Amino acid sequence: MAASEDFDVVVVGGGPSGSTVSTLVAKQGHRVLLLEKETFPRYQIGESLLPGTVHGLASLLGVAEEIRAAGFVRKRGGVFRWGSSPEPWSFSFDETPDMFPYAYQVERAKFDTILLDNAARSGVTVRQRATASEVVREGERVVGLRYRHEGREREARARYVVDASGNGSRLHRQAGGERVYSQFFRNLAVFGYFEGGKRLPEPNSGSIFCVAFEDGWFWYIPLSETLTSVGAVVHRSKAAEIQASPVQALATFVDRCPLIKDYLQGAERVTEGIYGTVRVRKDYSYCGTRFWAPGIVLTGDAACFIDPVFSSGVHLATYSGLLAARSINSCLGGGLDENRSFGEFEARYRREYGVFYEFLMAFYDVGQTKESYFWQARRAASCELNELQSFVRLVGGSSSGETSFMDPTAVGERVRSIATAWREEGEYSTRPPRQRQRTTPTEDHILNRMWEQERVIEGFASTAATRAETAPLIPGGLVATADGLHWAEPAPAATPA
Ligand code: FAD
Repeated sequence: MAASEDFDVVVVGGGPSGSTVSTLVAKQGHRVLLLEKETFPRYQIGESLLPGTVHGLASLLGVAEEIRAAGFVRKRGGVFRWGSSPEPWSFSFDETPDMFPYAYQVERAKFDTILLDNAARSGVTVRQRATASEVVREGERVVGLRYRHEGREREARARYVVDASGNGSRLHRQAGGERVYSQFFRNLAVFGYFEGGKRLPEPNSGSIFCVAFEDGWFWYIPLSETLTSVGAVVHRSKAAEIQASPVQALATFVDRCPLIKDYLQGAERVTEGIYGTVRVRKDYSYCGTRFWAPGIVLTGDAACFIDPVFSSGVHLATYSGLLAARSINSCLGGGLDENRSFGEFEARYRREYGVFYEFLMAFYDVGQTKESYFWQARRAASCELNELQSFVRLVGGSSSGETSFMDPTAVGERVRSIATAWREEGEYSTRPPRQRQRTTPTEDHILNRMWEQERVIEGFASTAATRAETAPLIPGGLVATADGLHWAEPAPAATPA
């Protein structure tokens, strides 16, 4: 075995979670090694993203511009044929005052490579084709990792090991807990890719389309003008049918779902390249009983994941990466007690997971009205906004009020996107509002809507000026510092009574 190398942090996994935590720690000048067993770009499922990830977190990582320029499909929100109404209903992210108005649908091979390359540019030592095998311990503490790279066994010592190696993690038990699989979400997913599928009518052509049918539900995610990711999530009683032939099972489910069948009329399933396989995933809804132990922390899917209907996976992966980076930076900087610092990471991560879990349980009752789902969202997120806004905020990944998801540099972009959307809808003139002739009641309505948006954006800009939190999210807990990268004790006056 080669001599051991020393780092401050070793991260296992180059997915969104591993790239996030490693970049945000390396930016503080700490020595970070990231091990990734594959060669990027590599395939991964999880293509529909949330606004806070693609704007706020991306800005903190320093890749917002690169992601904007990558040409991903803009996701304005979602369209659902779900619940008691036979007609599809929709929501858009710009319904709430404090969120970015759109996200992206991404090809993960491309998106994950942008984040991993950025980690390397930010000072992380990235080793691909490097497979972590076991942790090194001294007493109760994890002090490093053994891994295989370029045909040799190696060892790296570090103050912290981060397990961000996804749902197939071999290391997660090293935090001392177990994975508990959800008894409620015991579904399977079977999915493939199609060329030439229809698009939703504007302004929703980039939105995710989710359609419930008698066996479960479908996702329909536009990844380019012509490429669509299509997956069926069905009850585990269909396992034998799927295992016998995933290709045939997917075709049968499409046949049983008239809306998806209609959208795929004339489309062809891709049969070559990374999108040429029909894949199956199961046992993906679980949560670990411990997210950290001395010297080791679990982030992203290595810690927990839940049903994909609201695209929370990459959000939870990157959010937990950010929370873990704050804890690591605070401890490496010597400012905070480890129990308190990682306790904050775990409490916030569990809270976010719990909000999605509770809401999704209610959402899976497909006999309800959309208003009832909105009400459930308000309850799950304990939100002070109205029902629709609470729903949008929750499914947009902003129910925690995380300040880093608000990015001042995106304000101009927000104004432009609203203007573009309205132009596409044929509703909006490029002339400033005061020069416009108000000829119809519709135009009055549009002007009001525009002024309202402008007020929102002004408010948004002022709240985004600093990422510092004034009060703890968890009673008795810590607050994020102004740089968004550390924890601090709250000022005494800010502690809730
Ligand atoms: P990953 O993306 O899995 O990255 C982990 C990395 O670790 C991989 O690159 C792997 O090669 C590497 N690795 C593993 N073991 C080792 C090792 N021993 N040594 C070194 N490297 C290792 N999420 C969304 O946001 N939107 C969606 O629309 C969505 N749809 C989904 C649909 C389905 C059916 C499923 C199952 C999930 C979906 N998800 C979705 C969830 C999403 O796929 C994950 O939550 C997300 O990829 C987690 O990111 P991560 O960084 O934690 O892990």
